[in-house]
Amino acid sequence: QYPFGRRLPCDIYWHGVSFHDNNIFSGQVNKFPGMTEMVRKVTLSRAVRTMQDLFPLEYNFYPRSWILPEELPLFVEEVRMMKDSDPSWKPTFIVKPDGGCQGDGIYLIKDPSDIRQTGSIHSRPAVVQEYICKPLLVDKLKFDIRLYVLLKSLEPLEIYIAKDGLSRFCTEPYQEPTLKNLHQVFMHLTNYSLNIHSGNFIHSDSVNTGSKRTFSSILCRLSSRGADVKKLWSDIISLVIKTIIALTPELKVYYQSDIPAGKPGPTCFQILGFDILLMKNLKPMLLEVNANPSMRIEHEQELSPGVFENVPSPVDEEVKVAVIRDTLRLMDPQNKKRKDIQKNIESRKIKVNIRYNYFTSYRCQTSEHVSEANKDLLDIGPADSPEHETTRTLEPELPSLCLKQVFPKYAKQFNYLRLVDRVAALFIRFLGVKGTTKLGPTGFRTFIRNCKLSNSNFSMACVDILYIDITRRRNGMGIDHKESGMCLQAFVEAFFCLAQKKYKSLPLHQQVTSLIDFCEYQLAVLDEKRRAVCHAD
Ligand code: ADP
Repeated sequence: QYPFGRRLPCDIYWHGVSFHDNNIFSGQVNKFPGMTEMVRKVTLSRAVRTMQDLFPLEYNFYPRSWILPEELPLFVEEVRMMKDSDPSWKPTFIVKPDGGCQGDGIYLIKDPSDIRQTGSIHSRPAVVQEYICKPLLVDKLKFDIRLYVLLKSLEPLEIYIAKDGLSRFCTEPYQEPTLKNLHQVFMHLTNYSLNIHSGNFIHSDSVNTGSKRTFSSILCRLSSRGADVKKLWSDIISLVIKTIIALTPELKVYYQSDIPAGKPGPTCFQILGFDILLMKNLKPMLLEVNANPSMRIEHEQELSPGVFENVPSPVDEEVKVAVIRDTLRLMDPQNKKRKDIQKNIESRKIKVNIRYNYFTSYRCQTSEHVSEANKDLLDIGPADSPEHETTRTLEPELPSLCLKQVFPKYAKQFNYLRLVDRVAALFIRFLGVKGTTKLGPTGFRTFIRNCKLSNSNFSMACVDILYIDITRRRNGMGIDHKESGMCLQAFVEAFFCLAQKKYKSLPLHQQVTSLIDFCEYQLAVLDEKRRAVCHAD
């Protein structure tokens, strides 16, 4: 630990909260720049909304959400319209302050007029969301799932999911929301930090009883009731991959700003906590993503009133130790060296037993083990990563990996969703000045010119108006006043506008795909011309 910033170059930097550190020039940092901002309730809702606009069916795992205060009129209007068209619809909504955690400031409402119009709603943005009224219950209690996901790399995208997670239980039997029970947090909110204060909270030494259990113990229960657990896992994997695909475009903008290409800098990885709610019909719904999930393996026990003691929590230990251990195994800087050695060994056909000690008593294993673990983990399709094919077991003593690679393993199924990534690549190309995250008016004009998007129907004056309109509105939303200019979300909005103008009758995702193809083609032609000129010179 270097509490005062003193530092020697390290292989792995394990930061407590966020990436921020300008003095790291090599090694690997356990946080991505911008991740904390990206998973805030408002930003996550916005990023998922963009994907819902493009792919409504694929992104129906996130409850319908509105961003306050700016979408309050829209929220009121949409609810009114839905109620008019279906008078039997009796919705409940959950209001969550942006940047809040542990259930802080959350409340349920039955009607948009119940939003607390105190001064705080204007100073503090929030998300209001459709409340999922029919969650799956176990022992009559509502619970949610915390799953750990390792984002191993952004470019190329590599995602791992831990095969076990935590299930956190409410402490009052669940009833569908009514005006009478709306305020009962122990019935509606699954946060551990809230329920621990309920007299009904049960600490248990067993992983399948009590108020915090392993997710695998729930799966066993479900499986014994005849539920299709394999399908559930595959839905969860799909939810995780799609959510990360929604986050990657903006993460790439942050990344190039903090770690400019071509300059010495670290690479990044990050453990994320996904909070998921299962509906009664077993459909997983995303509640939120945590950039800094708690890795505590102890819990507080009240010995006598007001006197607390930290005691080991076997459930937390079982799940979290494996996540940290496997993250380090996967990020192990020796991995590359070991692979090189292995290649050497294989080429010389010499049998050698390589041993080295991990920094604890654990020892490392090769990717054949990883592959084996992956195969028996979820058992949904063969591993197709080349990483898994080449190596041979050197150390059989470590437990098999709990982290399963899901991307690029399932890339073929999901790559078509990565449209905004391609829009972000265009955005980054025209950012110009290294280290910025916003596009100036000149950059936007250059983008239009280079991609040949201006014509007699769409003059450069119209281009300027589009830029000013969208940028002013976005900056007026109070998300980020620090830098003036067009942020990625605003550029995406402008790009969708241009796509709709150019390819009128197609569905939005096809319009956007066509415009991306068109822009990429124009830029490739331009690059080719420039190369030819350089060559001639
Ligand atoms: P926080 O970061 O404060 O924990 P969450 O978004 O995780 O905020 O919400 C807190 C809890 O509220 C969740 O753990 C879940 O039990 C409940 N909850 C959140 N959103 C919904 C929803 N749309 N439908 C039903 N329950 C929800």
